[in-house]
Amino acid sequence: EALALHDGLTGLLNRRALLDRGGTALATARRQRAPFALALIDIDHFKGINDTRGHLAGDEVIHEVGRRLAASLRDGDDVGRWGGEEFLALLPNADAATALAAAERLRGEVERTAIDTSAGAVRVTVSVGVAVVTAARLIDADLDALLRDADAALYRAKAAGRNRVDGAAA
Ligand code: GH3
Ligand code: MG
Ligand code: MG
Repeated sequence: EALALHDGLTGLLNRRALLDRGGTALATARRQRAPFALALIDIDHFKGINDTRGHLAGDEVIHEVGRRLAASLRDGDDVGRWGGEEFLALLPNADAATALAAAERLRGEVERTAIDTSAGAVRVTVSVGVAVVTAARLIDADLDALLRDADAALYRAKAAGRNRVDGAAA
């Protein structure tokens, strides 16, 4: 079961586990009439790290970014590896201000210090797309729509120059 739910490189939840927990968390939010948010986190210019430092160092960067993200979340939040160099954080009970603050904290923790790899120290940044559903809008909210909102916000963060958070409340 641990193998089925966790990612081999980072040890974090895998995509399947994130979808499962995300669905459960959204259902709980609906029942409790509490807000709910997602943050999609993507390492900036990651291809360049693989190209200049090698794939092994790239793997080490993914591992350490995952560790920093997990260490920066509050109790009750979850983060996992969505795929490649992308992570997804589930933020139950987070309204727009809380979710944007959490995303900004994650972004800052990744940027703050260089990552030691077998190919030397590497500085990396992440861009973050946040999607929030307020308690009043929970009835119609579904996880796929929230993921699409987060993806669109991430796209805007990238287009605006990277190393930043973008987000929308629905
Ligand atoms: P952007 O700032 O737009 O996100 O640029 P990017 O270079 O990060 O984006 P892109 O999606 O072009 O590159 C992602 C790269 O991540 C491509 C792929 O080879 C690499 N990658 C995906 N999974 C892994 C992995 O498990 N290990 C390593 N080392 N690289 C991976
Ligand atoms: Mg990506
Ligand atoms: Mg990337």
